[in-house]
Amino acid sequence: MPEVVEDPVKAKPELRYRRVILKLSGESLTRSGERGIGGDEVHHIARQIQSAHSSGCEVAVVVGGGNILRGAQFSDSNASVQESTAHYMGMLATVINALALQDALEAIGCPTRVMSAIRMDGVAEQFIRRRATRHLSRGRIVILAAGIGSPFVTTDTAAAQRALELEADIVLKATRVDGVYSEDPEKNPHAMLYDRLDFAEVVAKNLRVMDATAIALCREHGVPILVFNFKKEGNIVRAIAGESVGTWIGLRL
Ligand code: UDP
Repeated sequence: MPEVVEDPVKAKPELRYRRVILKLSGESLTRSGERGIGGDEVHHIARQIQSAHSSGCEVAVVVGGGNILRGAQFSDSNASVQESTAHYMGMLATVINALALQDALEAIGCPTRVMSAIRMDGVAEQFIRRRATRHLSRGRIVILAAGIGSPFVTTDTAAAQRALELEADIVLKATRVDGVYSEDPEKNPHAMLYDRLDFAEVVAKNLRVMDATAIALCREHGVPILVFNFKKEGNIVRAIAGESVGTWIGLRL
C-alpha cells in the first residue's frame, strides 16, 4: 500500500493528508505531572487543532483518558474494583475529556461533534461510521470518545481502528517527546531519535510507539503513523501539513 492513500477526486492538491486521526493522550489536557483537566492546556490544544483544521484537512481526534484513570491501575487481583470495570471507567474518562475539548474548540469557532463508542445519549452521539464520515466531509471536527467501547485495550488501538474505518491517511500520535527513540531519552540522554522507521523494525526492536494491537492493525493495513511532540508550538499544524516533524513509521522507508 502506498505511504499516503489519496483520493484524486477529493484530495485538495495543497494538502499532504486529506483526512487524519489525531491521537491525543489525556495527559495532553493537563499540566505535566498533574491529573485532571487544565483550562489553559485544553485551550492550547484546541488552538492548534483549529489551525490545522483551517488548512482544509479533515480531522478526527481520538482522545485518551490517562489524566483521569487507566484500567490497568486496577490489574492487581486484590483491588476492590475489577479490572474490566476499571477499563470501562477509563473509557468514561475519555468522554469527560472529549466534552472539555469540544467546548474549547467550539469556543473558538470550530464546529465539533463528539461521538462515543459507548451509547451516551444526552452527552454525545453514538459512533456510527457513516455518520462520522459525513461529519468530517462537512468540515466538522469529530472527537471520538470511549475508545472502541471494549475493555483491555487503549485509545491507541482505538486510533488505529478508527483510522481504518474512516479511511484516514495517517495516525498522528501526539506525545510529550520529539518522536521514537532507541531508548528512553529521560533515562539515557544519548538515546537516538529516529527520523523514519518501518513497522518491522518497530516490532523487532520492541520500540515504544503505540500499543501492540495498534501497531499490528496499522502494519497489516499499511496505515502510517507519525509520532511527534505536540508541546512544540505549531507541531500539530506541521504534522498535518506533512512537514518533516517527529518519527514517521510506515511499511517501507
Ligand atoms: N480503554 C478501554 N478500551 C478502549 C479505550 C480505552 O478499555 O477502547 C480504557 C483503558 O483502561 C485505558 C483507559 O480507557 O487505559 C484510558 O485510555 P488510554 O490509556 O488510552 O488514555 P491515554 O493514555 O491516551 O491518556
